[in-house]
Amino acid sequence: MVIVLKNDASESEKKNIKNLLKSKNFKINEVKGEESTILAAVGKLSMDVREVEVLPGVEKVVPISKPYKLASREFKPENSIIEIQNNRGQIIRVGGSRLVSIGGPCAVESREQMLAAAAAVSAAGATMLRGGAYKPRTSPYAFQGLGEEGLKYLKEAGDKYGLPVVTEIVAAEYIPLMEDNGVDVYQVGARNMQNFELLKRLGKLGKPVILKRGLCATIQEWLMSAEYLLSSGTDKVILCERGIRTYETATRNTLDLSAIPVLRSLTHLPIIVDPSHAVGVRDKIPPMALAALAAGADGIIVEVHCHPEQALSDAAQALYPEQFDKIMRDMEALAPVIGKQVAHIRSERKTSPTQSIQSTQESKKNGTDEKIKCAFSGKKGAYAEQAVINFFDDSAEAVEVNSFDEIFQQVVDGKVQYGMIPIENSTAGSIYNNYDNLTRYEDVSIVGAVTIRIEHSLLAPKGATLQTVKNVYSHPQGLAQCSNFIKNHGYHCVDTVSTATGAQLVASKGELENAAICNARNAEIWGLEVLQQGIENNPNNYTRFVIIAANHVGSEPLQFEEKKPNRASILFTTKNEAGALYDALGVFKNANLSMNRLESRPIAGKPWKYWFYSDVVIQNDVANPKEFIADFKEKLKKVAEDIRVLGIYSE
Ligand code: PEP
Ligand code: MN
Repeated sequence: MVIVLKNDASESEKKNIKNLLKSKNFKINEVKGEESTILAAVGKLSMDVREVEVLPGVEKVVPISKPYKLASREFKPENSIIEIQNNRGQIIRVGGSRLVSIGGPCAVESREQMLAAAAAVSAAGATMLRGGAYKPRTSPYAFQGLGEEGLKYLKEAGDKYGLPVVTEIVAAEYIPLMEDNGVDVYQVGARNMQNFELLKRLGKLGKPVILKRGLCATIQEWLMSAEYLLSSGTDKVILCERGIRTYETATRNTLDLSAIPVLRSLTHLPIIVDPSHAVGVRDKIPPMALAALAAGADGIIVEVHCHPEQALSDAAQALYPEQFDKIMRDMEALAPVIGKQVAHIRSERKTSPTQSIQSTQESKKNGTDEKIKCAFSGKKGAYAEQAVINFFDDSAEAVEVNSFDEIFQQVVDGKVQYGMIPIENSTAGSIYNNYDNLTRYEDVSIVGAVTIRIEHSLLAPKGATLQTVKNVYSHPQGLAQCSNFIKNHGYHCVDTVSTATGAQLVASKGELENAAICNARNAEIWGLEVLQQGIENNPNNYTRFVIIAANHVGSEPLQFEEKKPNRASILFTTKNEAGALYDALGVFKNANLSMNRLESRPIAGKPWKYWFYSDVVIQNDVANPKEFIADFKEKLKKVAEDIRVLGIYSE
């Protein structure tokens, strides 16, 4: 049932209602809406709704109309995201804004075959590895799988590449064996979708389950099976459309793409698609994989074999690694079109950020040269590179990338440990794009901040003087910030994409009439001379950067240094009601947190809803800043909605 609370229901009334429901073993999901709060409650026992209706604070009680309750959107309006952890401490999320891909053979056949398949799908960019150790074959004479030996090969291959493993469970008796062998995701095959005893046992385990659609199952029957899993204790169910039986014989089954949007409206569960078993013919798989993603699937599961012609099962539908690679490339191209990104496995990181800084210092002492990496947007000589040098005191390699988005992506993918993100310029204002990136990339933390002075210089080839120069090259902002100097000398302005690009261009032309306005560091980089330093109109020109890192497991904000933190960055949303922000700010005041910054940004997809971004100063007398902020977060929860501590750091 859905219990709509009165607008003025008090916390104690709400608690009272929850207590009654809990005493009757109901599962409760609280949903705070714009206008009112609802409690969705599902229990195995039926209950007279009047018992709830009469409670203080209750506006009305509406039964959940669908036969599946916990799986329904009525129970949980927002999409569920299933988190799966790999052996590198990374969390892969199914159902969020990133598309996942599961690749691997139909069946585990040998150690070599599995290692080769894992290498191939990992190189193509898969996020999980599949392989059946117990195969439900139509004929009892066909290959039945390697059993436990197969599980071991699968796990070894997955671990080698940081890929969680997905394998089919055909009977509950195999659960202990599969647990012992580290199965990350349990697949319930089409033939077992209505094996209710298996579903009940598996649900109790609480591990992620991929529930395939039965060969002849309706969407409702399928969701009822999901309900079996959910009502047995797990909340980690992923639905997988894999084709249904129709009168058509040209393909193995008929892929029911329309099930995706239908499911989206009926359930909050993530949906993936298996085009391999759906069409059964190798060359028909790639277009259906892309169509599934375009139709809204959260990911795909595809059969891949290094030697398909030798595959012991489902040979006709096994993709060559090159075909899978092509799907993955197409997926990268498709993702931005449908407003998503592609999930990637982070490259192996053996150390935490604190450790890596220390080990870098140690390796410097030992004369070894293994530097940590920090990405920045732009070229060598850019102010962001200067920020990397300043912050890391030369112990990090500054890695050039082409956009702010790419910095976040590289950090999340583990290609670099850190990213240098400009957040505000003292004259040009906030860099909104990066506030939005901080809200969008849920698995990064702010681990530090650095402010650098933007001091522009005029650089030109050797031999040039202020008098020989006629044209000045720079980013439009660089030109605007030095407009007085340019006007006084009567120079002609040429726009470039960045200040460093201007320097590069001037150096490559090598003419005495061209000069660049940029950071003086470019002189050394491009072989130019500094004609004049400090030419900006306003010498008080600063840019503040934050340093980001990918969260490790557990989503505690990362810390860069052991130093006691004195700053925190916090994101929160408020209810859409009078005084909501005022109430939230009261919590900051009571905690004696002074605010350096408060920004509001629209939330994508939710018109007129806003994130508030705040930087606060943690006072010196706070003994344990981490505990202090955790406690503050609890208090803020009472008046604000989504709260994310982006980072606790020293500045
Ligand atoms: C499989 O994934 O190998 C499989 C047997 O799939 P399905 O249950 O969809 O036939
Ligand atoms: Mn198969």
